[in-house]
Order: sequence, then structure tokens, then C-alpha cells
Amino acid sequence: MTSPIRRGTRIAHIGIAVQSLDALLPFYRDVLGLSEVPLDDADGARIAGLAAGESLVELLQPEAAGSPIDKFIEKRGPGIHHVCLAVDDLDGTLEKCRAAGIALIDSVPRIGAEGKRIAFLHPKSTGGVLIELSEY
Ligand code: ZN
Repeated sequence: MTSPIRRGTRIAHIGIAVQSLDALLPFYRDVLGLSEVPLDDADGARIAGLAAGESLVELLQPEAAGSPIDKFIEKRGPGIHHVCLAVDDLDGTLEKCRAAGIALIDSVPRIGAEGKRIAFLHPKSTGGVLIELSEY
């Protein structure tokens, strides 16, 4: 349900597509000093979460051939895959996007890697960036 507390839209996490968590996790964790946060796998990807202040960096390694991250890396190479914005009212924001003609990938919210309700917007409507909306 929608929380009555208004916190404002913030960056929840940045998803980075990687070919190998083993190769890159030590850089983000040990060299840059981000602390690891346990996350569930999602959408055919193994996910390593790293806390950067109130936001996370999520390293996404494809597990299954043909999964979204696998296809992304095949087409565009490793790199920033999506930006997740946490919003006060996910259903209301999704409805506003729909009314504004924004192309929705998820027309109904579903459960994401952090166990929260999420929905993706299509990059063709957002300046070329895959945007994930999340509830707090
Ligand atoms: Zn995400």
C-alpha cells in the first residue's frame, strides 16, 4: 500500500551489466570500499549489491542465455544497464507515466531483487535510459 510519508524520488540503485561478478566485485568492494549487501537473483541474473550511501550499485551477471542482461551485453557490451528511482507512490507514478504516454515495460508492478514492488519504463520514452521505478 502507498505510504502516507512523502520522501521524494531518489536514486535507489544503478544496475551495471557485467560478464563476471568474480572479476569485478573485488574492484567495487575492496578497491572502492563499497560494502556488500545480499540481494536475491532476478530476471535470470546473479546480482551483487553494494551500498553507496543511501543508494546501491548492483552488478548484474547473466546466469541464463537469452536473459535480459545476457541480451544486453551481447548487443551493447557491459556497462550501465538501468537506473532505479524509488518513488513515494509507485502505482500513482506508473499511472502518471501511462497518462503521459510513456511506454511501460511492466504495466503492472512486480517484485524485484530487493523484494520491493518495481516496474520498468521503456528507454524509447526516457531519453534512452532504461528506468526502473521502485517503491521505498
Ligand atoms: Zn534494478
